[in-house]
Amino acid sequence: MKAFVYQGPGRKALEDRAIPAIAAPGDAVVRVVKTTICGTDLHILKGDVPTCAPGRILGHEGVGVIDQVGAGVTAFHAGDRVLISCISACGKCEYCRRGMYSHCTTGGWILGNAIDGTQAEYVRIPHADTSLYPIPAGADEEALVMLSDILPTGFECGVLNGKVAPGSTVAIVGAGPIGLAALLTAQFYSPAAIVMVDFDDNRLAVAKRFGATATVNAGSGNAADAVRKLTGGSGVDTAIEAVGVPGSFETCEDIVAPGGTIANVGVHGVKVDLHLERLWSHNITITTRLVDTATTPMLLKTVQSHKIDPKCMITHHFTLDRILDAYETFANAASTHALKVIIDV
Ligand SMILES: [Zn+2]
Ligand SMILES: [Zn+2]
Repeated sequence: MKAFVYQGPGRKALEDRAIPAIAAPGDAVVRVVKTTICGTDLHILKGDVPTCAPGRILGHEGVGVIDQVGAGVTAFHAGDRVLISCISACGKCEYCRRGMYSHCTTGGWILGNAIDGTQAEYVRIPHADTSLYPIPAGADEEALVMLSDILPTGFECGVLNGKVAPGSTVAIVGAGPIGLAALLTAQFYSPAAIVMVDFDDNRLAVAKRFGATATVNAGSGNAADAVRKLTGGSGVDTAIEAVGVPGSFETCEDIVAPGGTIANVGVHGVKVDLHLERLWSHNITITTRLVDTATTPMLLKTVQSHKIDPKCMITHHFTLDRILDAYETFANAASTHALKVIIDV
């Protein structure tokens, strides 16, 4: 089968690989139908993710059809159409029992990281009963690819952790796919204002279309001043960090109102300054989280009932043969205006 392989920092290729086999009774082998590329895959290619060794097939998102199941799998059968979660969960360990699937002792974010992933014709999914979701008949499978990672990530790490509430004020720093996923799902709670902050005018225009009440280009002067001005000087109740660099986290520290929450979503590679000399008295909360995908079934219902339309984030389509072009397009989002690219396998 064809598979997209990380060969070490800065090196990647489409290789021929053997089709994966069932390795444990709880495994399923899924024929991948559609997958996509995540910002995290770009981090891996740079060499930023030490758990991902050279030789790994990347990808942790997608939809497919069950090819075979191990003897212990009871919820799925060959031929079933499934949504693949970026988080694998045994459902039985201490963390799974607490709903913290991202910390599953034999799972978590392993797909396209510690084990081979979805940017291939087939993928082995461990703990299949509790890591796959059945696709309802007639569902739009491209929209569902957005449910593997970005929608639950934006919702759980940004909106839920950030305690977005009716009438509250929200700022989302970073208008990439994750920031936009937070923007879409924040609207479940009818906040009074959602301010989107980014350096890219195209992404800010997209955010406006997706429901942002105001946008701030961080390149044109002091973004924090602009956000405070938009909120009557007080700052926001929820500041969602959706980039993962020190500057964006510090912007959140500058715009969080007294009593507010900074919800970190971004994957940080270097340390960030915590300005307690100013914030110690502000009654704020800072949250961190790796997505648990505990809300995937709920989000699936909101997509099925057209409460949100995550398909609006898909900007490009490629076949698996052209995945190197897809990476090129996704990595150069400023010029290509790419948000999510769909890879048809
Ligand atoms: Zn991802
Ligand atoms: Zn577990």
